[in-house]
Parts: sequence; structure tokens; C-alpha cells
Amino acid sequence: MTRMEYIEGIVLRKLDYKESSKIIHVYTENGLRSVLVHGSRNMKSPFLNLVRVMNHVGLHVSGKDLLTLRDGDVLDDYHLVKENLEKFTYSLHILEIVYDFANHDHDHGKLMKFLVKIFNIVQSAKNYEIYLNMVELKMLNLLGVNPLFNRCVACDQAINLRFSVNEGGMCCADHYPKGEMNVSKEAVALMMELYYYDVQNPEDPVYTEETLKEIRHVIDRYYEYHLNFRSNSRRMLTGLIGY
Ligand SMILES: [Zn+2]
Repeated sequence: MTRMEYIEGIVLRKLDYKESSKIIHVYTENGLRSVLVHGSRNMKSPFLNLVRVMNHVGLHVSGKDLLTLRDGDVLDDYHLVKENLEKFTYSLHILEIVYDFANHDHDHGKLMKFLVKIFNIVQSAKNYEIYLNMVELKMLNLLGVNPLFNRCVACDQAINLRFSVNEGGMCCADHYPKGEMNVSKEAVALMMELYYYDVQNPEDPVYTEETLKEIRHVIDRYYEYHLNFRSNSRRMLTGLIGY
């Protein structure tokens, strides 16, 4: 008898397989799982909805490494995100990060729960960007390259600190590297707030549009320098939001 298994997760990627099927990569509490969906390119397939990127799905599957879909449901399709091209592209950027580091050994259960919470907020929030920035900043911790905010990265000094992307956090006057691009105090304060933010907190962070743009660039540089990462969605996003 075939052993059945139930998995729940977010569809990160889909690719065509043979003539009429697809393989979807689903991010679950145990990391990435690949699922073969037979006939899902047929317009009449009952599983057409299951294979859409960003959908939160519950799947009954069988098999070992490459699982085969037997039945499934869409738990949330985040249609309000998908209706807004900017929001959707920004969210796809996050999904690309999750996909790229899905084989890294971190707490997938924690990240998965957090993503679902954040996407629920992003659906209705106007100021959704900071919640996605929050994911990016908190992920630095999961990936072991978290910025140090409270003291100098080199000597523990806690006064007159300035943020350095390359050094991975705050530096005192003695250890602040030459030629480093300036990061404003407001940007550091906002990144710190988001990094430590508790999503149960009913109050939205307060910030200016200018600071929001600045932290977007700082986070981009941080991911490039420490993780050698830049996403395709991020490139597309520049065309949509203008920075
Ligand atoms: Zn120092």
C-alpha cells in the first residue's frame, strides 16, 4: 500500500514537467519539498489552483523524494497581494530569498509560521513594505549573518557608533572602516526596530518615505555582501517602485 502524507506549505516555485504536468517546490515546516502534480497544465485539472506561486496549500502526497500529489486544498491564495503588482513582486522577492536559502539548516517551522503571519498582514496593509523588510532582517539572524546593533562589532564599545554594511553592524570611531557608505541614524533605528519587532504588536512602526527607501538599499547591499544574493524580483521591483 502507498503511504500517504499530509504536508502544508507555501508554493515557492513551479516548473513544467513532461507534457502536461508540473513540479512545485513547497516550503514547509520541514524545509523544501518537491511535489509532482500530474496533468496540472490541463485547463480542466482540479489542481490548477494548487500550483500557483505564493499559494498556501495543504497537500496529500505519496512517495519519497519526489512526492506525488493525490489531493489538496488551497488554504490561502493571497489574492489581495496578487491583485497588486507591486505587492506581489515585492512578495516574490521574499519567496526567492526563502527558496535560495531553503537548504540552509535553520528553523524552517519558525520561518514558515512567520511567513504566513506576514503575508496575512501584507494582504491588507498599505505600508506593507516594512513587514517584508522585517522578514529580510529577521532572516539574517536565521542565516547566521545578523547585524550587531548594540555595540561595536570589533571591540564592544557602545558609544558613537555608526552602521557599516561590510562589517555587519555598528562600529565605533576606531573601527569604522574608511570609504564606507553612510547609513543615517534614522535608517539604523528603523532596521533595529524591525529586526526586534514582535508581530503581535498592534502598533505599526513609524517612519518616513525617505528612510524606507534608504533601508531598502542597505538591506540589498547587506544581502549582496554577506550572502552574495540578489533576486530577479528585486530587479523588476526597481522598475515598479522606482528605486
Ligand atoms: Zn570598536
